[in-house]
Amino acid sequence: MQSLAFSWHKQNQKISFVPTMGALHEGHLSLLREGRKTGDKLVLSIYVNPAQFAPTEDLAKYPRDTKGDLAKASDCRVDAVFFPSNEVMYPKGCQTYVEVANVTKGLCGASRPSHFRGVATVVLKLFNIVQPHVAIFGEKDYQQLITIQTMARDLNLPVEIKGMPTVREPDGLALSSRNAYLSKEERIAALSLSQSLKIAKEMAAAEKKDINEILESVKKAIEANGLTKTDYIKICDSETLEELTTLKSPARLLIAAFVGKTRLIDNCGI
Ligand code: AMP
Repeated sequence: MQSLAFSWHKQNQKISFVPTMGALHEGHLSLLREGRKTGDKLVLSIYVNPAQFAPTEDLAKYPRDTKGDLAKASDCRVDAVFFPSNEVMYPKGCQTYVEVANVTKGLCGASRPSHFRGVATVVLKLFNIVQPHVAIFGEKDYQQLITIQTMARDLNLPVEIKGMPTVREPDGLALSSRNAYLSKEERIAALSLSQSLKIAKEMAAAEKKDINEILESVKKAIEANGLTKTDYIKICDSETLEELTTLKSPARLLIAAFVGKTRLIDNCGI
C-alpha cells in the first residue's frame, strides 16, 4: 500500500482516504463518494482496530462483511482497499502510541479511557501507510473527528481532515454498524436519541439559553421508553469540546446512551 501511495505521489495524483472498520453502510458510502470527488485516487481501509476496544467491549462480535464491503467499494470506484492483518498493524514489540490530550478526556473518553489513544495511533499509522492528501471522517463520531483534526494540526501532518454530515435512516436514527445489535423493540427505542437532538435544537432555536433545562429535557426524552439509559449528555464548544455552562455559538450537543446492552452515540450542532 505504501509503495503504491508513493508511486501515485510521483505521478502527482491526489489521494483521498476513508478509514473504516468495515460492515459498510450508507454513512461510510457518503464518505467514499466525497473522496471520489476530491481525489484522483481513492483508498478505503477496513480494519477493526483492537487498540480502540477495551477488553470488555465488542471486538470479537463487531460486524464483519468483507465480501459485501468489497462489492460496495467497487460500486464507489475505490482504487485500493487496504485490509491489513493485526500482525501488519501491530508488529511484535510495538510500543509507540499517540495521545491527544484534552479533547479526548471527556465525553466518550471518560467512559472509554484508552479508546482515543487507540484511534489516534491507528489513524496516524494508516496516514503513514496511505499517504493521503485528504482524509474523510463522519461527524457521527464527532469527538473522533475533533481528535484527528487536533492530531493533524499538532503533529503537522500534511493531510486535510474533512468532516461529513451524519447519514440517518428515514426515521432519524443515525446509521451505525452497531445498529445491527438492536432487537426490534430496541430499534424503536433507539429513535429517542435523534428525537432528543431535535428537541434540544428546537429549545435552542426558541432562545432557551439555560443549558441545564435543555439537558434535562434531552435526558427525559431519551429515557422515556424505559429501554434506554444515558451514558452522557453534554453541550460543548464545537471546536475545543470544552463543556459549556451558557449556550453560545458554535455549540455541539453530544449524547451516548445504552439501548439495552448496545451503546450508541449521536450529536448535532445547536
Ligand atoms: P467506523 O467504521 O464506524 O469506524 O466508521 C468509519 C467512518 O465512517 C468514521 O469516520 C465515521 O464517523 C463514519 N461514519 C459512521 N457512521 C456514519 C454515519 N451515519 N454518517 C456519516 N459517517 C459515518
